[in-house]
Amino acid sequence: MKPVSSWGRLSAEPHRVVALTDPARAGMQLAHGPFPGVAYGMGRSYGDVCLNPQGTLWHTAGLDHFTAFDDTTGRLQCEAGVLLRDIQRMAVPRGWMLPVTPGSQMVTVGGAIANDVHGKNHHLLGSFGDHVLGFTLLRTDGTTLHCGPQENPGWFAATVGGLGLTGVVLHAELQLRRVAGPWLDTETLPYGSLPEFFQLADTSEAGWEHTVSWIDCLSADRKGSRARGLFMRANPLEGHDAPRATPRATPRQRPRTMPVVPPVSLVNRLTLRPFNTAYYHLKKAQRGHAVVHYEPFFYPLDNLLEWNRMYGPRGFFQYQCVVPRAVGRDAVQAMLAEIARSGEGSFLAVLKTFGNRQPLGMLSFPQPGVTLALDFPHHGDSSHRLFARLDAIVQEAQGRLYMAKDARMPRALFEAGYPRLNEFMAYRDPGISSALSRRLMGH
Ligand SMILES: Cc1cc2nc3c(=O)[nH]c(=O)nc-3n(C[C@H](O)[C@H](O)[C@H](O)COP(=O)(O)OP(=O)(O)OC[C@H]3O[C@@H](n4cnc5c(N)ncnc54)[C@H](O)[C@@H]3O)c2cc1C
Repeated sequence: MKPVSSWGRLSAEPHRVVALTDPARAGMQLAHGPFPGVAYGMGRSYGDVCLNPQGTLWHTAGLDHFTAFDDTTGRLQCEAGVLLRDIQRMAVPRGWMLPVTPGSQMVTVGGAIANDVHGKNHHLLGSFGDHVLGFTLLRTDGTTLHCGPQENPGWFAATVGGLGLTGVVLHAELQLRRVAGPWLDTETLPYGSLPEFFQLADTSEAGWEHTVSWIDCLSADRKGSRARGLFMRANPLEGHDAPRATPRATPRQRPRTMPVVPPVSLVNRLTLRPFNTAYYHLKKAQRGHAVVHYEPFFYPLDNLLEWNRMYGPRGFFQYQCVVPRAVGRDAVQAMLAEIARSGEGSFLAVLKTFGNRQPLGMLSFPQPGVTLALDFPHHGDSSHRLFARLDAIVQEAQGRLYMAKDARMPRALFEAGYPRLNEFMAYRDPGISSALSRRLMGH
């Protein structure tokens, strides 16, 4: 048994960790229990979706082989523990790239499928599952099932976004997309209010593949409408070679590491306001067009390894919701007002829109609307009181919270937000359970 945490570092409880290294042996490893278990990739989920205290974790880091890649079609077959980083580094020099990628590339293919992760281009290319051609699912009775959009489609829809609860994905086949090279043509635009954000989002979606914004939630007034932020948009740059203009951002050769866990959170009431103000003005000064390598644009936080230690020994929460577009402005405004009133603050606050696509998996998070994601240091009761007020706004707006980020949502909000839950339950593997499934589904 050894202590295991997820990215939020809210707990470090003992787990029995079983390393899966060979897909041919994995069936036997799973069938021999002990149960319940759940797959664990890189633990980049923030809450308890990848945790199973006192139980088994099937660690997939050793399932890290590429099996086949066809560089005429962009079809990639690989094991489920392969990192998105390794796919990008193998494929980009060959003129291909992952079509959808989350804000960290230190994530496994299995984890990306199980949370049906999204990137900055949902309005154009949907979520990760939209580009999965098929996968092999191992059940805890030792049987395997091949699933794809046409083959066993019910199992496919239950497993994409299925939180690892239907089985362990061993192999996957992915469709990559063509790119001319690693460069992006980006533009940064400061904005001063929520209406301005929504106008930028509406006018950017047709012409820009990637759109995202950082919002300074400490700048919000008590009504929540006058919040400033930075809107970033980007398109892949045509032309394979490094651009003639000097790129503003290239990948750092050696990422730095947050060396220790400080005794208290470095993100606190004293540091946040100057931090946010400095960040806003620094980026505002860099407004306009720039050519940027895909790594710093897609994965700005991967350059500081273990940055999650910054929040000190108590760890931190991420709160990510999506609310429908029709009520999006009012709901986001109400949430920002609640945060301003609470005195709790967030540095990593991201606001972006999702496209008009229905969720792919039965429990996939992305749905049409606007999503707000915020990191909060763990301040005990005062954090929970704020989350309860945000929950009420999300529920009233008929929105939902993202399980990949969650460690505390009430069951009623989960059930209201995920109407296909009953359909999903028929696909659960009885030998699999996680801290999140016990909290939200009863087992
Ligand atoms: C800095 C940062 C930025 C992020 N940005 C985004 C973002 O922009 N968009 C977004 O959607 N997410 C984002 N995330 C969340 C992250 O992409 C997801 O939590 C992802 O699922 C983590 O993958 P993992 O390999 O670490 O899986 P883990 O966190 O270890 O596990 C996640 C889930 O996948 C299941 N699982 C893992 N492997 C398998 C397998 N082989 N078979 C079946 N189930 C499996 C686990 O049981 C668990 O339910 C971000 C995370 C970080 C740290």
